[in-house]
Amino acid sequence: MSSANHEQNNQKKLINQDHRISALKKQMSYYKEITETIREPFIILRKDLTVVTANLAFYQKFKVKKRDTEGKQIYDLGDNQWDAPELKELLENILPDHRILNNYAVTHNFPLLGTKTILLNARQVDSKQLILLAMEDVTAQWKLKIDSAKLTENLTKQRDQLQGLNDAKDEFISLASHQLRTPATVVKQYVGMLSHGFAGALTKEQLDMLGVAYRNNERQLEIIEDLLRVAKVDAGKVYLDKVPFDVVAMIETAVDGQSILFQNRGQVVIFNKPATKMIAMIDPKLMLMVLENILDNAGKYSDNDTSITITVDQNETDTMISFIDNGVGIRESDQKKLFKKFSRIDNPLSVSVKGTGLGLYWAKKVLDLHEGSIQVTSGLRAGSTFKIITPTASTFSQ
Ligand code: ADP
Repeated sequence: MSSANHEQNNQKKLINQDHRISALKKQMSYYKEITETIREPFIILRKDLTVVTANLAFYQKFKVKKRDTEGKQIYDLGDNQWDAPELKELLENILPDHRILNNYAVTHNFPLLGTKTILLNARQVDSKQLILLAMEDVTAQWKLKIDSAKLTENLTKQRDQLQGLNDAKDEFISLASHQLRTPATVVKQYVGMLSHGFAGALTKEQLDMLGVAYRNNERQLEIIEDLLRVAKVDAGKVYLDKVPFDVVAMIETAVDGQSILFQNRGQVVIFNKPATKMIAMIDPKLMLMVLENILDNAGKYSDNDTSITITVDQNETDTMISFIDNGVGIRESDQKKLFKKFSRIDNPLSVSVKGTGLGLYWAKKVLDLHEGSIQVTSGLRAGSTFKIITPTASTFSQ
């Protein structure tokens, strides 16, 4: 080879080397950018646990300088803050056997940082010559987890206590009502006997006074019955006795039962009676009481000389009965209170009309037991529609 050729070859080699060096530099800066972008502290160790390098997040988090870190043993870094028995065990015993370790939690008191829980992820690379160690400070997350677990425990305790108090209250209402029922019934019998002249003839004035006593005693008994009914359903002691039953006939029974009441108020009940029977799988006794309740409300909360319309409809799955009145109506904001216990809503008739605020609560519970529902559409002074939906007797052939 001539010396000119030799010179040319050397030149080429040098150019190639320059290219490779610049490619390696590019690659280095590429990897450096990646590691620096990782927000979790990250360190690379040799097999002998001396530090090759660490990322910016590591230096910032553990308050150490690059020059005091690279080439040093991990245990000697930052006032020996990594000299923890658990870390030693992890790096010297566990990692060599497993090569990869995921989410290994170490709680350690760092002289510069205080007590921290660090989640370590480690893996051996480069034929086990290097160890990549990533550290995630999970102290705050874990504390939050512990705090929320404690909070849940406290809330559960409080809920159980409240439940206990509520049960005790229900039991008290039930017991008190039972105890009140017997003497109130006795009063009714004796007032009745007096009114019927069992103890001699009475003057008109005396009879009028007994009439007031009788009506108030009736009301007292009604309240006691309402309380007992609600206590029973709350205690989960209402069991349905479902049979296929004609709801059209049931509506007629409810209307007939209250016809005198409606007549006295000059109210008319319009029942758009379908030509055929409509059979639904229901508890007839309880469902009739629900219908009576809703119908009674429609009359009570409407002015005299108004009309109440009842419609019934059925498809394969549902049976729907609607009670439409032209009464005082219910504000939208009040409608969610309707089915709560003891809730009486202020309206132009609520003072003169007597009630316990238990009827709709009980009715909804009974419909829930039927897997049905009750819906209301109303507006103040715009009348109300109460719609009962209960599953149809789909397995029963009519
Ligand atoms: P009660 O009638 O004994 O007060 P309910 O539970 O049956 O108890 O009804 C709760 C409240 O809902 C009533 O106090 C009344 O304010 C309101 N309400 C019920 N039905 C109607 C209706 N058809 N029109 C207007 N308000 C009604």
